[in-house]
Amino acid sequence: MKQGCLGSLFHYERLRFMEIQKINIRGVYFANVTMDEAAAYVEERLLRGETTAIYTPNPEIVQMCIENEAFYETVNSAELIVPDGIGVVKASKILKTPLKQKVAGVELGERVLDIAARNGKGVYLFGGKDASRTESGIGVADQCIPVFEKKFPGIIVSGTRDGYCKKDGEENEETIRLINESGAEILFVCLGAPLQEKWIHENRSKLPNVKVYLGLGGSLDVYSGNVKRAPKLFIKLGLEWFYRLLCEPKRIGRMMKLPKFYFGTWIYKLKKK
Ligand code: UDP
Repeated sequence: MKQGCLGSLFHYERLRFMEIQKINIRGVYFANVTMDEAAAYVEERLLRGETTAIYTPNPEIVQMCIENEAFYETVNSAELIVPDGIGVVKASKILKTPLKQKVAGVELGERVLDIAARNGKGVYLFGGKDASRTESGIGVADQCIPVFEKKFPGIIVSGTRDGYCKKDGEENEETIRLINESGAEILFVCLGAPLQEKWIHENRSKLPNVKVYLGLGGSLDVYSGNVKRAPKLFIKLGLEWFYRLLCEPKRIGRMMKLPKFYFGTWIYKLKKK
């Protein structure tokens, strides 16, 4: 009898719902969490059977919202929004509502894979280049499978679908059917922003099994080894964006949103005074 009581007490403590403080940065409601807290929150909700969409906006995505206000509703509909960019953390300091830290989407994705492996939850990978667009002739999502199986023993990859199918009409219905039939409870949607956030927002009601959605941009390219993350020193100095620019100079157009966001935040702050 005693043991039973202790057992249920432990269960309650382990699954006790975490409170998450949300901080408004230029209209986007970021969770004020560390990486550990974000992972614990996702695991708790998953074990309680609650659905959690996770978006990982960087300054570029916040700036997209500022320039196209309709996108705010999509982004803010996620249950967990973490700052995937030192620029968002800097903005939070400028606005005197500091966020605890940057929570890189690519790292949070790995934490979720670990949670999936430990709890026997299937993961579905949607996004990335199809076989006809890669050098090896293997789609990027499929390339991730052996990497995940080595790094997260016991992981169940329930299925993959490349990100170059149509995102509407019959082809999208097929995507929905494949994900539903796979039984996956965790879905990585790696189509880049704003496509992935819009796709999750529009389709989550059709996916009853899925409990965790992650919008993770080019993360499958990183996991599969096709794209290298910046060296640790760049990350530590808050210069990951600069490294990406060096590797892919064609990103310069997109990256112009960074100074726009940074200086725009100062102007916003001064106007609010
Ligand atoms: N992508 C996709 N379908 C599309 C367009 C893009 O699957 O219709 C993939 C693309 O192959 C890449 C990712 O989406 O893996 C976007 O990566 P990017 O580095 O641009 O995103 P970020 O991480 O900067 O958000």
